[in-house]
This record gives sequence, structure tokens and C-alpha cells, in this order.
Amino acid sequence: MFNSIRTKLTLWYVGVLAVVIMAFSALTYFILVNALNKNTDEQLIEMSRNFSAALIAEQEGETNGPISDKAIAETVGEMHFRDYQFLISTHDGRVIASTFEVGVDPKCTAGESAFRICDIGGESFRVFESPLEKGPMEYRLLAFHSLREQTALKRRVTGIFLVGVPLTLLLAGFGGYFLARKSLAPVVEMGRQASQIGAGNLNERITIKNRNDELGDLARVFNDLLARLDASFEQQRRFMADASHELRTPLAIVRGEAEVALSKNDRTIADYRESLSILHDESKRLTKIVEDLFTLARADAGQFQAHFASVYLDEITSEAVRSMRVLADQKKVELSFNSETEMPFTGDESLLRRLILNLLDNAVKYSRTGGKVAVTCLSTDANLQINVTDKGIGIPQDEQGRIFERFYRVDKARSRSDETETSGAGLGLSIARWIAEIHNGDLELVSSTSGGSIFVVRFPR
Ligand code: ADP
Repeated sequence: MFNSIRTKLTLWYVGVLAVVIMAFSALTYFILVNALNKNTDEQLIEMSRNFSAALIAEQEGETNGPISDKAIAETVGEMHFRDYQFLISTHDGRVIASTFEVGVDPKCTAGESAFRICDIGGESFRVFESPLEKGPMEYRLLAFHSLREQTALKRRVTGIFLVGVPLTLLLAGFGGYFLARKSLAPVVEMGRQASQIGAGNLNERITIKNRNDELGDLARVFNDLLARLDASFEQQRRFMADASHELRTPLAIVRGEAEVALSKNDRTIADYRESLSILHDESKRLTKIVEDLFTLARADAGQFQAHFASVYLDEITSEAVRSMRVLADQKKVELSFNSETEMPFTGDESLLRRLILNLLDNAVKYSRTGGKVAVTCLSTDANLQINVTDKGIGIPQDEQGRIFERFYRVDKARSRSDETETSGAGLGLSIARWIAEIHNGDLELVSSTSGGSIFVVRFPR
């Protein structure tokens, strides 16, 4: 229960409110008591003055003489108030006259400070003591104010705080819990919706109630994440489907050819050689597809270990051109190589060779018989560049943007009808671009028309 954000929020809220209300109550009580005390003291001073004035008035003709005991007795006899009492005492605390009907504790009459508190007859009084001249002697005038009403008022205020504060906190707690529940309800709902989204329905999205608040932002971020996951799942699904499709064709050829070879007993050696040659070509094709798939799978998983070393790009390119020559000759394609300069570079030699071979393979494969393929190495201020130019069949404008996608072949029928041992599964350019990118370079189709294509690889110097 205490792990719920609702409860935690409410507890924090009530806790902070309790501290604030208690501090406020204590301050209010302190100010109230101070004001009451001040008021009582002022009234006591005032009453003492009144008493003195009444005493002087009682003196009448004897104004210049000392205050007489008679005047004292008469004044004390006249001064009757509900909450005030007076007492005249000698310097050493002996009571001369008093309005009290009960005896007064000598401790009250002989205090140190002008203002003090003392109990008389079971009641608390605030006492103010002032001197009263009596000839050579000095009397003291003590004015008493009953604290009965003040104590009752303080008790009432304390009672109000004791009931009011917990009640306020209780109400605030309920209110806080209700608010926390209400504000977190959309989060709970988002959680419920999210828990129902799985691999099977990744296209579903969380409902956004208010696009402009924080929860709207959260839902949007969540939906973006779902969209990315969905796209990635879709890509994986397509990859699997395309991969199995690409593997199925050569496997069917292998099985069909083997069945044909085994079905008749009267086959000639030439027939068997022919079948074996087909089996050989198809298994080479299968091997290449599986290798390409493996490379891409490891690249996706970030597990491909490239071995970077100092190499010369022009040399790697020249070697690749040399190894492609046999295939080019078979197709009567003229293959030329030209390098302006040495191109020292840091990269993975076998990957770089594979990149160039993939481009050359395509250039020769999609060239017409008797066509030309030119490979040029050049270096600019910023880049090392390799251009592969062919005079082949070209790529239609609307397909040019897709040729780097996995398994994408411009015209599947066109590629298949031309099936040789090098015909691919539409993975060559994806792998070539990936190799360029892991070397911080890029691979682009610069132009392609029905008269031929130009592919350019650039690496930063
Ligand atoms: P593949 O292994 O099928 O050649 P790629 O990924 O290397 O796959 O190429 C994708 C598609 O791009 C090819 O199927 C082909 O249709 C087209 N393509 C690539 N290079 C060329 C080129 N030089 N001339 C014409 N078409 C090309």
C-alpha cells in the first residue's frame, strides 16, 4: 500500500500541511497569549493609576501631607470591580488594606518584579506592584487582575486547535488522495493499455487525451517507441520472409535436379555432369546468400568484428578488378581500371574488397554483352573516391531509391532469367553500403539511365 504513488503523494502532502498548520497554530497561539498579557498589563497599570487618583481625591484638604490610613481604608472600600482587586502593603509585605475577602499569601505581597502571577483562593491573578508614598515610609499598591477569563479563552483556543487541526488534516488527506487518484488515473489507464500491447498487436497505440499536458507528452513518447518497435519487428519479419523465399528457390532447384538425376538409370555421364554442375552452381549461390545473411545478421546485432589496418584503397580496387576479369571476359565486357594516385587508408581489407566486388559484380552482371565497365580511383581534398561506371541496362528512375534495401531487386524476373552463379538475392548493395558506413564513408548511385549507371564510394581522408 505504501508503495503506491497515490499513497506516497497523499502522505507527503498531509505531512507538509501538518507541519505548516502546526507552525501556524503555534504562532497564532503565541501572538494571542502575548496580546492578552499585554492588554492585562496595560489595564493593571491603568487601574493602579485610577486607584492612586481616587486615593488623592480622598485626601481632600490634606493634599500636601502623607496619605492617611483613613483615606486608604475608604478608597479600598470603594474600589469594587469584578475582575480587579487591590491591596496596600508595607515595604516588608505586611497587609495594610485589601479588597480581597480571603487572606493573601505573603509571597504575593513581597515579590521581586513589578509584574507577576500568583494564586489566591484557588484562582490565578496577574499582579502589578507600584510604590505608594506614605510620609517617610513607602507603601506598596498591588493591583490584581483575575486570569479566569484569559485562561478560559486560552483553553478554548487550544481546544479549537486540537480538534480543528486533525480534522483539517483528515479532510486534506481525503482531498489529496482524491486529487492524486484523479491525476494518476490517466497513467494507470496508459499502463493498462500498454500491458495489452504485445508482438501480435504492435500497431495499436495508447490513447492521448490531452496532447498539451505532461501525460500527453509521455503517451506520445510511448507511442513513438511503439512505432519504432513496430517498424523494427516489421523489418525483421520481412527479412525472415524474404530470406526464406530467397533460399527456397535454389533449394528447390537442387532437390529437383537431384530427383531428375536419380530417377533414370539410363543417363549418360554428360547428363550427370550437367546435373552436378547445376547442383554446384546452386549450392554456391546458397552459400553466398547464407554468408550475406550471416554478415547482415551480425551487423544488425553489432557483433561484426571489423579488423582495421593500414591499407591502400587503390591496390584493393585493382586486385578486385583483376579477380573480376574472368567473369567480365566470359560476358565479353571490357573492364578498365585507372588510379590517379596512391590512396592510403585505414580499414578492413576483406570488407573493402567485398564492397568493390559487389559493385563490380553488379556492373558486369547488368552490362550488355560487349559493354564497358570503368573503375576509377581518385582523391579530392576531403575524400578518397572510387567510381564504378558501366554502360549497362541502368535502373529505372522510380526504383533508384530502393536498390539499397535488403532483398530488393529491380526486376526479379530480369535477375532470375539471367541467373548465373553470381546472381544475387538483392543483398549485395545493402552489404556494400553497410561496409562504406562502418568506414565513415558513403555509397551512392550518382546517375543511372538506360545507357548505364555510375556508383560512387567516398571515404573521408
Ligand atoms: P543483386 O545481388 O540482386 O544484384 P544488389 O543489392 O547488388 O542485389 O542490387 C539490387 C538491385 O539493383 C539489383 O537486383 C539490380 O536490379 C539493381 N542494380 C544494381 N547494380 C546495378 C547496375 N550496375 N546496373 C543495373 N542495375 C543494377
